[in-house]
Amino acid sequence: MELSHRSERRFSGIPVAPGIARAAVMVQWEEDEEIALRIIASDDLPEEIARFESALIATRAELLEIQQRIASAIGSNDASIFDAHLLVVEDRTLIDEVLRRIEEDRCNVEYAFHQVAEKYCRSLSQIDDPYLRERVVDIEDVTRRIIRNLLGKAPRNPAAHDQPHIVVAHNLTPSDTAQLNRTLVMGFATEVGSKTSHTAIMARALEIPAVVGIHGLCQDLTSGDDILIDGYTGTIILNPSPETAAEYARIASQKSQIVERLGLIRETASTTVDGCHIVLSANVDLSDELDDMAESGAEGIGLYRTEYLYLNRIAPPDEEEQFEHYRRAAERARPHGVIIRTLDIGGDKSTQSLHLPEEQNPFLGCRAVRFCLQNPEIFRAQLRAILRAATFGDVRIMYPMISGLDELRQANAVLEQSKAELAARGVPFHPYIEVGIMVETPSAVLVADHLAREASFFSIGTNDLIQYSIAVDRGNENIAHLYSPTHPAILRMIGMVVDAARARGIWTGVCGEMAGDVLLTPLLLGLGVDELSATSAVVPRVKKAVQSLDVSRCRELVRQALEMDDAAAIAELSTRMARECYAEIAD
Ligand code: PEP
Ligand code: MG
Repeated sequence: MELSHRSERRFSGIPVAPGIARAAVMVQWEEDEEIALRIIASDDLPEEIARFESALIATRAELLEIQQRIASAIGSNDASIFDAHLLVVEDRTLIDEVLRRIEEDRCNVEYAFHQVAEKYCRSLSQIDDPYLRERVVDIEDVTRRIIRNLLGKAPRNPAAHDQPHIVVAHNLTPSDTAQLNRTLVMGFATEVGSKTSHTAIMARALEIPAVVGIHGLCQDLTSGDDILIDGYTGTIILNPSPETAAEYARIASQKSQIVERLGLIRETASTTVDGCHIVLSANVDLSDELDDMAESGAEGIGLYRTEYLYLNRIAPPDEEEQFEHYRRAAERARPHGVIIRTLDIGGDKSTQSLHLPEEQNPFLGCRAVRFCLQNPEIFRAQLRAILRAATFGDVRIMYPMISGLDELRQANAVLEQSKAELAARGVPFHPYIEVGIMVETPSAVLVADHLAREASFFSIGTNDLIQYSIAVDRGNENIAHLYSPTHPAILRMIGMVVDAARARGIWTGVCGEMAGDVLLTPLLLGLGVDELSATSAVVPRVKKAVQSLDVSRCRELVRQALEMDDAAAIAELSTRMARECYAEIAD
């Protein structure tokens, strides 16, 4: 019996972040718990009240622990967001009302607490006061924690665990992922998700092996189980046998030898065999990735995703705080530059710190530059911070989700206002900062000739461009097979953008995940892109790929690919060249 419990079992999913790890699993349950009503016998009421008190004490301890951890990791300012949460656990009115309900209705404490908290949230959200509305989010968060403690389930926040572990959850949001503790979380697996969701992108940035899209995994595993995660093939192995463990030890050592060898080309230029220099820069999501960027051998930052500064907090960062982050990035990237992308909130990235509308289709809704144009004060604060940071290095601005020239002009008008505000305050800033755009909507591709007249550069966001062009949700594992970077439509679009840019003498980069996929580098070089920007962890691999390719051969490959009508065959064609030129990193 015992033996069969320990027998090895494999689960397959979508590999999203490479690496191998083995540790105990921590299963995080869904946010919304089923809260059943139970009638409590009068004799049992004291015990029910005692359960409530213990849950409050446990939740308070949990919050204090997270607060301390955040304070030591990123500073007491950020940690103070938990002050509001702590106030909720100590709120006498709320506690008294729950106690009254338990006694009067003789109901179980989870049910009473949920009812009272919901009533509070409903009343608060109707009040026209931003401070009180923010308290709704605190109450919701604390309610979930208290209920989890009452139900005896592990806290959702992995911070509470002090041993190395692998997180398994139905879903992790980008903000959950941004909070993962790199030293304790050895890997994660989720039931939903896909390769270009922001959660997956964040896992690669943090270099945490990750697998997504394994339906039913939470049911099949129990916290404490021994699992191995293989982020290369997308496999989770429960109770790995000694043979499996030995095989993976061999794979891990082989992979680390490759990483070591790639380290040797760190200081070399990303120039092709036939002497064509491709600018190779890094994508940065969090400020603490700046060291990784500097060590990767990248030529600066090609995409700084600023929205992460707005996540996991109650109030948005002000101009001053943002200025400090951007200045640090500008200084760290020297002698190279930083392309700071303005706030791309919405889609799969939401935050309590901004009032984002509830939408049916958030990826098609008030996202990115649309949100900024509707919230000009937030936009101007960010632009002022960037303009100021631009006096400390080569800093450029990039607007996300531009769909046409009108939007670019509107954003530039706000930029001019921001400059005027700084001038009026007498604060130094860079008045001639370069402004480029992300090309990630099909409409932007089709009017790239218009946009090229007024943008200083294009950076193709293939993650979104693919989802919007093929109409396939980038985060949905059920249709992940349709999400195809080598779809003939995508190749044509990239080619159109490059042509429009060249006609106006501006450069084109790619900063979507396609830029980091070395199997596709032959296609991107052949299509004529001038810059590739990828997560720091993969920069050395992309450099190796660039250094091993011949652009004239890549152009010939693209000529062939553009005549093909099948995405899989195009991928195969590119993969063949990749394997021929740099087999070591192509498998
Ligand atoms: C993209 O869409 O390709 C991109 C780089 O932006 P993000 O992944 O942040 O949406
Ligand atoms: Mg995008």
